[in-house]
Amino acid sequence: LNRGLAEFGTTIFAEMSALATTTGAVNLGQGFPDTDGPEEVREAAVRAIRDGRGNQYPPGPGVPELRAAVADHQRRFHGLTWDPDTEVLVTTGATEAIAAALLGLLEPGDEVVALEPYYDSYAACIAMAGGRRVPVTLRPHTGPDGDRFVLDLDELRAAVTDRTRLILLNTPHNPTGTVLTRAELTAIAELAVERDLLVVTDEVYEHLVFDPAGHLPIVALPGMRERTVSISSAGKTFSFTGWKIGWVTAVPALLSAVRAAKQYLTFVSGGPFQYAVAEALRLPDSYFTDLRADLLAKRDLLADGLAKAGFGVFRPQGTYFVTTDVRPLGESDGVAFCRALPERCGVVAIPNAVFYDHRDAGAPFVRFAFCKRTEVLQDAVKRLAAL
Ligand code: PMP
Ligand code: GLN
Repeated sequence: LNRGLAEFGTTIFAEMSALATTTGAVNLGQGFPDTDGPEEVREAAVRAIRDGRGNQYPPGPGVPELRAAVADHQRRFHGLTWDPDTEVLVTTGATEAIAAALLGLLEPGDEVVALEPYYDSYAACIAMAGGRRVPVTLRPHTGPDGDRFVLDLDELRAAVTDRTRLILLNTPHNPTGTVLTRAELTAIAELAVERDLLVVTDEVYEHLVFDPAGHLPIVALPGMRERTVSISSAGKTFSFTGWKIGWVTAVPALLSAVRAAKQYLTFVSGGPFQYAVAEALRLPDSYFTDLRADLLAKRDLLADGLAKAGFGVFRPQGTYFVTTDVRPLGESDGVAFCRALPERCGVVAIPNAVFYDHRDAGAPFVRFAFCKRTEVLQDAVKRLAAL
């Protein structure tokens, strides 16, 4: 194993899902729904296979039907306009999009400012691209709307140096559930323009937002279109995390850099699934509203249960994760807590510390996923109450 990658070991998701299997615990660790997405979308994939659409290598940038659907979806929900031929790229999940964006845009030694805690593939992909990560820590904060993790804009400004090439954002944010506000995004955008930085923004949870203010893509802000690479995927929005269809939208000069890397990572992405996701992106508004309403009820079920069990709870504005603080339970080390939790009460969770460079800053925080059936969450809440 090359030395740059050795520090990353096995992903926490593999470790914790294996623990769930061996102990028979309720798995609220790895974020994946325990019911599949819409029947008609599954049927569309089957139909594509039967009709021979996408069974052989599809076009490198993605099938035209999906690129058009991505562009139409971005217009419908965010008022953005993209040319499906030159400004949309289909990828193998957001994971490949992140890798291809970093490999395509970074020179060795370039610095990447990223919001810590960060999704685990960011650090590994920055390393693979020869970049250097510069974390800016989101800090727990009690405000009028409850506890949330917030970005300190002065810390962000201080993290930018002459070697900074890009800011890597994620909103709605995994694992904290924070949705960056218009004011925060405006400040980030102003900084990017002032220091001539690129922004790569991971918006896979764009539809899982409970805040009435909703999700704002940073690319919509003044001066950002030319410098933003936006990433999303079908996994979370349509509950098909195994299909691995994602996409990138960016102006042609940036998109072609991402495509240059993508063509040597996977060359193309799963053909028949692309046709099915094209149909999914055209589902009526009610699909997206119902998804959100269902998850909101589940968020509250789990967050209330965790609070009752004695956890400190950060009720998320978005995503399908609740971050908790285990200190009110008399614990201080979230990693040890998560390793012991399946034995103690039959539940698996993820320690947020693994998403930090400053491990101490993340030590007491633990993440629980609520994208599960109501009865599974009720069972988990009962088990947690026995802690
Ligand atoms: N980014 C974030 C923030 C995630 O939580 C995930 C996990 N779903 C991904 C990217 C990966 O998405 P995909 O499964 O589409 O590769
Ligand atoms: N995005 C999901 C999570 O954060 C799953 C990630 C994975 O399995 N790599 O739990």
